[in-house]
Amino acid sequence: MTAVAVPTRDMSTRPELHVDLEAIAANTRLFTARTAGEVMAVVKADGFGHGAADVARTALANGATRLGITSLTEGFALREAGLDAAVLSWLNPVDADWAAARRARIDVAVPSREHLLAIAAAGPGSRVHLHLDTGMARDGAASHEWSELCAIAAGLQSRGEIRVVGVMGHLGCAGTPKHPDTDTGRIRFGWALDVALAAGLDPADQHLAATAATLTDPRTHYTMSRIGAGLVGIDPSRTSTLRPALTLTAPIVTVREVRPGTPVGYDHTWVADRHTTLALLPIGYADGLPRRTSGRAEVQIAGRRCPLVGRISMDMAVIDVGDLSVRAGDIATVFGSGDTGEPTVRDWADWAETIEHEIVTGLGSRLHRTTRGSHR
Ligand SMILES: *Cc1c(COP(=O)(O)O)cnc(C)c1O
Repeated sequence: MTAVAVPTRDMSTRPELHVDLEAIAANTRLFTARTAGEVMAVVKADGFGHGAADVARTALANGATRLGITSLTEGFALREAGLDAAVLSWLNPVDADWAAARRARIDVAVPSREHLLAIAAAGPGSRVHLHLDTGMARDGAASHEWSELCAIAAGLQSRGEIRVVGVMGHLGCAGTPKHPDTDTGRIRFGWALDVALAAGLDPADQHLAATAATLTDPRTHYTMSRIGAGLVGIDPSRTSTLRPALTLTAPIVTVREVRPGTPVGYDHTWVADRHTTLALLPIGYADGLPRRTSGRAEVQIAGRRCPLVGRISMDMAVIDVGDLSVRAGDIATVFGSGDTGEPTVRDWADWAETIEHEIVTGLGSRLHRTTRGSHR
């Protein structure tokens, strides 16, 4: 991708999303220290909203050895960005461009017989990871299909049509430490490996754990962990201290004083009960602030937490700054690391009754992004 020159503008005139690469580097090192296996950096959904190429480069420079994504399209974008590390893509339709994947040296996961045959039909040399559903009934082959899938794969491999380099599964409840499903999934995965070996396959890459299981259950590590959320500071198990990597700020556009009884925003869901000062921020649900957090969310201005009042609009939010003396151009922190008392992505997720992943992947594309720190 080529960088587009933009006119230099006062940084305080627009919302800014800062991506802290040093946090991503530190998080990556924490994972490489926690497992003897390889770390695959999962950079799907634009690196969980942090920029796929930036997260990929940073993770690879700090001990990750591979990249993982869902669609081939995302893999091609990584290649175009100049990344040449090993890549695995695990979610594609049967008629995906498997030949292009092979040319781009992208390994592909196989969730079904139909996928396997289509990959082999696209020409020899594809590297595949057989994918078992270890307990989510979501992606991956069902247990009753596994023996046949391994047998077909072994036949294709013996004729030189494909190479089975991996077996993968995924755990659905690892965010809850000691959840019984993690044991069930691990036992199923062990069985799947045995079946693959008995079919004559010899998959070097054996991977089951993502962020949560890597942090809470070493028995799930096998030869590799696929880490996405953890790289960007999200720990679904809430057992570790990872560093959040995003800070979102917005400048105050206008300030107004209002009298008691003044209704604010669409539907007048909030009415001032005293004299107060309202500040307008140029950021709304189109930028990824969930509208359902209206009435709960806060931002930080001049070191103080101030509530959003009334409904969040598409492009705007109104803050009750109380007796704070603020001016247009002053900067509000919507979320950040939390180190100085500002709200965090986790706060926003709690206010929206969702998970942090949904907040960071839902940020709007019009937000101006900058990175802090180097990929090293
Ligand atoms: C998203 C995803 C991952 C990464 O999970 P995190 O919990 O974000 O680390 C790993 N494996 C699969 C199959 C995924 O879809």
